[in-house]
Amino acid sequence: MSKGSMKAIVKTEAAPGLSLVDVPVPEIGINDVLIRIQKTSICGTDVHIYQWDDWASETIRTPLTVGHEFAGVIDAVGSDVEDFDVGDLVSGEGHIVCGHCRNCRAGRRHLCQTPNAVGINRDGAFAEYLMMPASNVWRVNPAISPEILTMFDPFGNAVHAALSWNLIGEDVLITGAGPIGIMSIMVARHAGARHIVITDMNPYRLALAKECDATIALDVTDGTIAGAQAELGMIEGFDVGLEMSGNPAAVNDMMANMAHGGKISLLGIQNREAAVTWDDVIFKGLTIKGIYGREMYETWYKMTALIQSGLDISPLITHRFHYTEYEKAFEVMASGESGKVILDWTE
Ligand SMILES: [Zn+2]
Repeated sequence: MSKGSMKAIVKTEAAPGLSLVDVPVPEIGINDVLIRIQKTSICGTDVHIYQWDDWASETIRTPLTVGHEFAGVIDAVGSDVEDFDVGDLVSGEGHIVCGHCRNCRAGRRHLCQTPNAVGINRDGAFAEYLMMPASNVWRVNPAISPEILTMFDPFGNAVHAALSWNLIGEDVLITGAGPIGIMSIMVARHAGARHIVITDMNPYRLALAKECDATIALDVTDGTIAGAQAELGMIEGFDVGLEMSGNPAAVNDMMANMAHGGKISLLGIQNREAAVTWDDVIFKGLTIKGIYGREMYETWYKMTALIQSGLDISPLITHRFHYTEYEKAFEVMASGESGKVILDWTE
């Protein structure tokens, strides 16, 4: 059932940049759905692919339609798909799991041995249509707007990292005030945390973090986490740490400011040579958990429930562009002077 051609934002050659080109509308298999894209948002990963850094040049095979943060409506369903109807408002899990490794079969799909990623290992969502297995699609009530829904992928990173630990009445340290760090403030606040301190060096993002209800948004070029603890009257250190920066200094700063028995989620990707203060881990009895992606589909359930119980992540959207203005949108994202940047595919 070929539907002709569509516009897509594509990495056409192994070099910096992206192109808006015509590509065939993807054909769906019997277990797939075709999604007509309404909104997408740009991830830091997309910026790496745009800029063609070492990671991107080692990972991406061209040509590739990029993008994995999306919201859209079901346009067509494969003959064996029973759970979805044309017109359903959906987003989807961008990690396509193998389905037969030990963890997949045990229902721990976020721990799949060989996941494929939409917009990285297979064609992505910055296009008029996206094809994916129906088992990866998440439907929501249309009371949730497509703009909110398009952020479910990074929101899920924040929810997965934050809700890995008990947060009620706890003091939370977040290192890195990118969109996922700021969404983590909102989740921790909604979940009943007491003090939430977030660190960064980018004044724009720290101001946004403060607006989004951080107790203290700390510029680490201008103050210390120990100083923030003193200001809040804290004595024993943070109970929960959420590392979102990928900066080795931030990790060690976090370890130094944790309470004994503290829990840490590590999400920011560290340089392979990054040194860790193991003394803090051992003598404080810290628990460290690596966070990759979202739990399928418990995190998606929680995200939906959090939004429906009043968590509003819309203040994080700072820029909106038509998809034809994608160059401008990527420029804004790369500048660091943004929260989430949304692309509109509806016109
Ligand atoms: Zn698997």
